Amino acid sequence: MIVLDRCAVSTVDSSGTEHATGHVVVSADGRIASVGSGPAPRPYESHTYVDASSCLVTPGLINTHHHLYQWATRGLAQDATLFEWLTTLYPVWRGLDDTVTHAAASAGLAKLALTGCTLAADHHYVFPSGGGDVFNALVSAGRRIGIRLEAIRGSMDRGQSDGGLPPDNLVEDTEAALIATEQAIGDYHSTADDALVRVAVGPCSPFSVSRELMTGAASLARRHGVRLHTHLAETLDEEEQCLAENGCTPTEYAEQLGWLGSDVWLAHTVHLSSDAVKRLGATSTGSAHCPTSNGRLGTGIAPVRDLLDAGAPVGLGVDGAASNEDGGLVVELRAALHQARQRGGPRSLDVRQALWMATMGGAQCLGRADSLGSIEPGKVADLAVWDLSGMDYAGIADPVAALVLGTAPPLKLLIVGGEVVVRDGVLQTASTDELARDLSAASLKLQEAAR
Ligand SMILES: [Zn+2]
Repeated sequence: MIVLDRCAVSTVDSSGTEHATGHVVVSADGRIASVGSGPAPRPYESHTYVDASSCLVTPGLINTHHHLYQWATRGLAQDATLFEWLTTLYPVWRGLDDTVTHAAASAGLAKLALTGCTLAADHHYVFPSGGGDVFNALVSAGRRIGIRLEAIRGSMDRGQSDGGLPPDNLVEDTEAALIATEQAIGDYHSTADDALVRVAVGPCSPFSVSRELMTGAASLARRHGVRLHTHLAETLDEEEQCLAENGCTPTEYAEQLGWLGSDVWLAHTVHLSSDAVKRLGATSTGSAHCPTSNGRLGTGIAPVRDLLDAGAPVGLGVDGAASNEDGGLVVELRAALHQARQRGGPRSLDVRQALWMATMGGAQCLGRADSLGSIEPGKVADLAVWDLSGMDYAGIADPVAALVLGTAPPLKLLIVGGEVVVRDGVLQTASTDELARDLSAASLKLQEAAR
C-alpha cells in the first residue's frame, strides 16, 4: 500500500473535485482506497508513506496515438508536408525489424513514462517481410517499461500500383493482414479492467488501405469486441484525394465504411466540416488530438472546442517521434491549449480542460473510463505525482496552471496499478543509458539499410 500525503490533488472526477492539501491512498491490489482533503487517515504505519507536500497528484496521463517504431527515424524530412514526409520515410521503414522495433518502442515508452504517461496507444502498421515478429517486439517493450499499452495492430494493403501512397513492397496482402490482426487479438488482448495490454484494430489511413480492408477490419474488431482506430482528416491533400476517388469527404467515407461509432477513435480529425463535427458527436466517435505533430507537419489546427461541445470524446496524442521529436506527453497539454486558443480565442480551452483531455478524455477514447482516467475509490491506481518544489514553480497560484502552462515538471512518482515505474525522476524498470545505446544502434541500422 502507498500513502501519498500533504499533496494537492486534481481528481478529474465528473465534478472536477480538487484538494489544495489532501491525500491519496493506494491499496495492496493497486486500486484507489481513498482520496480526500487533509491528512491521510491513520493508521498507515504498515504502508509506504510518501510526504508529497509541494506535489500535485493527477491521474496518469493517457496517450491516445503514437507510432513508437518512429523513435528510430527522428530528424528526417523536417520541412515536408505529410505526403512528402511519408514518401521520404517509407523506404527507411522498409528496414524495420523486431530488434529495431523493440529498441525504439522501449525508448519511446520510457520517455512517455518520464513525462507522466501510464497508458499509451501505439499504432503499428509497418510489417516488412523478413522483419520478424515486430508486434511481439512492441508488446514486450510495453511489459519491460511497465506502463499500459493499447497495442493497435495496424495494416496497409494499398501500394502505389493500386493508387496508394506507400511503395508496393511495404504493404501486406489484404487477407493476410486480417488474419495477422485476428492472431494478435488472440495472442495479446485482455478484457480485464486493469489489463496491461489490450489490442485494437487499426488499418492505417484511407490513402494506404483498401475499402475491403477497412470494412473487413471493422467487422473483425466488432466480432471480437475490440476497438477500432485509424488516421482521418489529417490534411487537405487527403481530403482532395478522397473527394476525387470517392466523391465524399474523409468523414463521410468513414461513415460509409462503418467507421463511426462509440468503439472508434480517430487520429487527428483536423479538417472537419461543421456537419462532420456533429456526426462525430452524435456517434460518440473519439478523436486523438496531436497538436505538436500537427504543428510540425503544418497540417492545420483541429476543432477541439467544437468537438467537445458536440459531445465527442477527445484525448491527446504524441504521434510518432518522426513528426514530434520530443516524444513526451505532458507538453501536449500546453500545445493543445495554445492551439485551441489560436483558433478560437482565450476562452476556447482552459488548463483543467486540457488536463481532462489528457486523462478522462483519453480513457473515453480507449473505452476505459470505468476503471482509468480519474482518481476515485475503486478505480485502478494509475497516478502521476508531479514535483512542484523547484524554482520553476515557486509561488505559483495554481498547481494545475504550473503543470499545463509552466515548465514540464519532474515526477516524484509515476504509479501504474500500484507499481512504481518512476521515482524522483528516474525510470525504475530499465536503464535509460542502455535504452539510448540500443536506440542509437537501431537508428543507425535503419539509416544504413536505406542507403
Ligand atoms: Zn499517426
